[in-house]
Amino acid sequence: MIYDNCTVITMDPGRRIITDAAIATQGASITAVGKSDAVRAAHPGESVRDLHGWLVLPGLVDGHIHLPQAMLRGSADEVPLWVWMAERIFILEGNYTPADVQASTRLALVEMIKAGTTAFLETLILGRHDLASLVEVIADSGVRAVLPRAITDGGGYLDESPLHPGLDEPHTEAIADALAVARQVAGSEHVRIWLGPRSTGGCSEGLLRELVVLARREGMGLCQHYAMTDREKRYIRERHGCGQVEFLERLDMLGDNVVLVHACALDGDDIGRLAGTGTSVVHCPTGPAKMGSGVTPVKELLEAGVNVALGTDAAAANNGADLIRDLKWVAYLQKLAHHDPTVVTAEQVLEMATIGGAHALGLGELTGSLEEGKRADFIVVRTDGPGWVPTLNPVANFVYSTTGADVDTVVVGGRVLMEDRALTTLDEERVLAEARDAVADLYRRTGVPAPVSWPVS
Ligand SMILES: [Zn+2]
Repeated sequence: MIYDNCTVITMDPGRRIITDAAIATQGASITAVGKSDAVRAAHPGESVRDLHGWLVLPGLVDGHIHLPQAMLRGSADEVPLWVWMAERIFILEGNYTPADVQASTRLALVEMIKAGTTAFLETLILGRHDLASLVEVIADSGVRAVLPRAITDGGGYLDESPLHPGLDEPHTEAIADALAVARQVAGSEHVRIWLGPRSTGGCSEGLLRELVVLARREGMGLCQHYAMTDREKRYIRERHGCGQVEFLERLDMLGDNVVLVHACALDGDDIGRLAGTGTSVVHCPTGPAKMGSGVTPVKELLEAGVNVALGTDAAAANNGADLIRDLKWVAYLQKLAHHDPTVVTAEQVLEMATIGGAHALGLGELTGSLEEGKRADFIVVRTDGPGWVPTLNPVANFVYSTTGADVDTVVVGGRVLMEDRALTTLDEERVLAEARDAVADLYRRTGVPAPVSWPVS
């Protein structure tokens, strides 16, 4: 197939932007990216799809999302983190049926595909969520996923705010589940299983050490919420007598198979110790901003050469899985924090959303840029709307002026997941209806009051 008549932002090492371009694909892979005339001449007789001069980019990588919380959108707005967890989200999620988990996951997948996300990392899959069945739902959708199985044994400050009994489980069962499902999907390019300690505040030091050894033995990645708030920083200092990343050094929990999510409370010492280790950080601009809990020091991390990816977090926290809508926040928060409009550019934001994300997920060889030999994971963005007039720098238009609603087509591994905004692997109308019904029933069952402030008649 040849996707012709477009402008391609390649995200290749030279960061080339090619006008009057075409992309040729064969099976799951890209066979050529270049000027339209040359690509078409090299592939006579191929089917051609005209892209009307629109923009083509690598599919976006959402480095942090919680699938089961997709249908808890709006369930805990304007409340502190501890209330968010203990009084609303964990009660609702702790009462999920297997059908609820699947309904929420499909809702998240619909929202992600419609906004151009082609790969994601979900860090908090517990026993109640049934990892094996989620793997099937995700594989059917066609999106790439890295799924660190959540593991906790308490033992930290999160003991003060334990998981709902419906979410709690022995860590030994969680580890066994992770290993069993990892073996089932071994060799898959679409779904990978990692280990997901539930933050340092939710794991004993002994468990963290055990997971480091296990990850190395099994060739798995490790992902955890880390340095989310100053409270965690104080806890590590009081409990372990060291800094946050110094603690990870002691555990040998740094490296290119390690992803730290949020990392809002990192200080200069932490960033210095992260540099050169290969560890990735995922910045979620809008969830922690909405909670008022912190901003990841993205400028300093990038300056130190640390790989940074981006995440939407959860619809229960930031109310949406449209990563494009969140992109401008990444730049704006840094410019605001530093009172400096020159820091963190649109180009750096797009790097984090594509190649940076792919690298964090361990998929950098496969995806994240449009190059010959890489997988055909790309999105087509319509440029015929007002937000694209004028288009002086397409990267700036994409990061600052558009939303996921402009994504027309999504292709993953050569497979078309959306065309003309119509999904091919999920029945959108049915998915939305099932999620609506599931949430209504969930609120009825749990007795959690609906979060409405103004009188509704
Ligand atoms: Zn999270």
